[in-house]
Amino acid sequence: AKANGRNRFSFYSNELNQVAQRNARIHSDMRAALIDKQFRLEFQPIMDSATKKWAGLEALLRWDHPEFGLVRPDEFIEIANETGLINEIGDWVLDECCKNISRLSNIMDNPPKISVNVSPRQFEYSDICTKIINLIDKYKINPNLFVIEITEELLLNHPKRVATALEKLRAMGIGISIDDFGTGYSSLQYLRDLPATCLKIDKAFVNQIEQSETDRAIIATIVHLAHAFNMKVVAEGVETKAQADLLAASGCNELQGYFLSIPQPMDKLIPNLLADEGR
Ligand code: C2E
Ligand code: CA
Ligand code: CA
Ligand code: CA
Repeated sequence: AKANGRNRFSFYSNELNQVAQRNARIHSDMRAALIDKQFRLEFQPIMDSATKKWAGLEALLRWDHPEFGLVRPDEFIEIANETGLINEIGDWVLDECCKNISRLSNIMDNPPKISVNVSPRQFEYSDICTKIINLIDKYKINPNLFVIEITEELLLNHPKRVATALEKLRAMGIGISIDDFGTGYSSLQYLRDLPATCLKIDKAFVNQIEQSETDRAIIATIVHLAHAFNMKVVAEGVETKAQADLLAASGCNELQGYFLSIPQPMDKLIPNLLADEGR
């Protein structure tokens, strides 16, 4: 039994070691990856639950690592936040999103909005407003087609400065979504004070919606709250038709999830977007 215990220990410590080594590589390879253009974006469609048309696309970052293959953001965003490299990566993401808004605007009459995830650190260390204003000018895009997704965590440290920046973006017509709503530090006070246009219900509340009366009650409450504040509601992580139907019936304005579409490269999406527009 003792030998067995030791084996098990060395098995775990070996596994831990591998995770640590991979993290170390992710940490040290990230800067070169940016220069080497190993990052790319995929876009996940968001469906309007009333018209059933694509209302938006969420940009999601992907890293094609030369050795590890596809590395998902959950593995590297945290590290990028710690090193501060999220600012450079985030600048690239913002530019790429505006470029794609311009591309879609050139080929569609009613292009979907593009939402971009923005980390709290991008507000801390740079003037993100000026960056976004410059990009809108550079690509000559309609600011109404641009949405930033922020998390409740953003409001922890510099609520006043952040609120001012968000007011400025909102005044230009840029949309502001509160991501992963209900999982963080939400307070009614900041919902009142922030110029948010949309709440995104975290998939944690969507998973069990068919089985859980409590989760259905939470969703109904979020929808009610959002609509009272003149905000739209997006439900994310929708994986089944039953979930989609329940969420639409609960008043969620827009739906996002594998049931509707997985995230895809823009080139693959464009034919579908064009077909959808013609419907
Ligand atoms: P998020 O913003 O909450 O994005 C939604 C995540 O759920 C995405 O994971 C998406 O691929 C996944 N997803 C979509 N539909 C479904 C579904 O039906 N079921 C399930 N189980 N998952 C679904 P992804 O792409 O791995 O991104 C993870 C997180 O990384 C994002 O969560 C976001 O917080 C962050 N992230 C992604 N791209 C960026 C970026 O450009 N900048 C920053 N700062 N963060 C990003
Ligand atoms: Ca998001
Ligand atoms: Ca989310
Ligand atoms: Ca999330």
